[in-house]
Amino acid sequence: MAIVTPIDTLPGQRRRLCLSSPATGETIGAIEVQNADDVAAALEVARKAQPAWAETSFEQRARVMQRAARVLVDRQDEFIDVVLRESGKPRTEALMMEIFAGCDALTYYAKRGGSILRSDKRTLHGMMRFMKQLRVVYQPLGVVGVISPWNGPFILSLNPTLQALIAGNAVLLKPSEVTPSSGALVGELFEAAGLPDGLLTVLTGDAETGAALVEAGVDKISFTGSVATGRTVGAACGRQLIPCTLELGGKDPMIVCEDANLDNAAAGAVVGAFMNAGQYCCGTERVYVANEIADAFTSKVIERVAKLRQGDSGEFDVGAIFWDRQLEIIESHVSDALSKGAVALAGARRNPNLSGLYYEPTVLTQVNHDMLVMRDETFGPVLPIMRFNDIEEAVSLANQTTYGLAANIWTQDKRGGIALAKRLKAGSVCINDVTMTYGAPEAPFGGRKSSGVGQVNGVIGLRGFTHAQPILIDRFGGRQTADTYPYTSKKNAAMQRLIRLLFGTPLGRWLS
Ligand code: NAD
Repeated sequence: MAIVTPIDTLPGQRRRLCLSSPATGETIGAIEVQNADDVAAALEVARKAQPAWAETSFEQRARVMQRAARVLVDRQDEFIDVVLRESGKPRTEALMMEIFAGCDALTYYAKRGGSILRSDKRTLHGMMRFMKQLRVVYQPLGVVGVISPWNGPFILSLNPTLQALIAGNAVLLKPSEVTPSSGALVGELFEAAGLPDGLLTVLTGDAETGAALVEAGVDKISFTGSVATGRTVGAACGRQLIPCTLELGGKDPMIVCEDANLDNAAAGAVVGAFMNAGQYCCGTERVYVANEIADAFTSKVIERVAKLRQGDSGEFDVGAIFWDRQLEIIESHVSDALSKGAVALAGARRNPNLSGLYYEPTVLTQVNHDMLVMRDETFGPVLPIMRFNDIEEAVSLANQTTYGLAANIWTQDKRGGIALAKRLKAGSVCINDVTMTYGAPEAPFGGRKSSGVGQVNGVIGLRGFTHAQPILIDRFGGRQTADTYPYTSKKNAAMQRLIRLLFGTPLGRWLS
């Protein structure tokens, strides 16, 4: 819901927010902002429900996820309608980013999560293996707070929630106040899938509710959102010594090498910049193109942009800006660039033919790093194109940012592309593709620098909702420990001989 306006409330009552459609501006609902007491009550319920859930087998929890996937398949149109009403995105994007990705994540973790969370028997190294055994057990943390943004209003609430649940935790989910109904769908989905009561509560509200959740005494925070809020959340978690993952904003570069397939690269630039109307955390925010091919590449981009259909109903390619504050940021970045010498080859204005929050797909050239549009996250349908002379300059420009979420490289030389990827200070890199790593659950996903802390998804992400508890077992029933005292010079000499043998001789190095 795009425009979020406070409604007057009496002292002592919960604050209320009025929500309007980004596509039409019509009022579409209102929410109450849940306060610290509401959060505390939800936490108490979750604390009671969680121990029994942690005792269930992985297979029982996986069955809930499989049922949830079936519910999502059956009720996809209903869920899409809710997302569209709040976001104004094209139906195809809701299908791809929210429904397909949701079904895939539910199914993936239901099928593969068991092998990730099963306790491991690990062989110890060197001589230790003859004396001790090691098991690592993945214990649920307890109650996890999930705080999510508005740009992937269903999937970014669902994905961390399902991982926390399947790992044996209870969840308190606080979706964005811009898209509360899409977040609430996660609660409806798991209720329909038969998740036991109390394990998932969806809290509605804004920063007040989010801050109350962070301070409530949960066992982990999984936060996705802006850098500014991420810093506040991270500081609060640090003070309480609770773990958190912070999945934050980006300013993702795209590098188009001289040998790139220009048609594919131009298509990639257009999809990367305009999918979800540019409100995609890993969207292409700046393009660096080799001088030799820059004109041809830019012409191909412009040809494709001219064919994009922006709309509010029926079939269209580029949807609305989800909320008014984001639209103001986009406008300020573009006008800053134009005032500093950038040239707009397309767009650079609100769409005059649509009444809602629509910004036309915009292509800028003659840009440089003095401009906001090349430095700060724009998070809108804006594609600035800058030329580079050689690959060293491309690497330097791509890394000249406080962010480090993702990047994409376009080249026909796979080996050269991988070598280039390794030089980028980016959380993930795609070659000849827009950034799709979040949708590949095997890929650990997370940002570097200001783009975040920790990683989500796959082995690292799922295990991040647990404590990896090592259990070390002495093979001889504790005899070695029983022999510890008294310390004697004879024992010291034996220890020194052992150290020399193990670490000072070829045989010892081989043994250890
Ligand atoms: P935001 O930081 O304004 O809000 C995110 C969530 O935090 C919302 O639910 C909000 O109500 C809540 N919140 C606000 N203040 C809070 C506080 N003090 N304490 C606790 N919670 C608080 O971000 P947004 O505008 O909703 O989302 C857009 C941002 O999210 C962009 O920067 C985008 O790049 C980023 N994002 C990152 C990823 C990723 O995976 N790295 C994915 C999607 C979006």
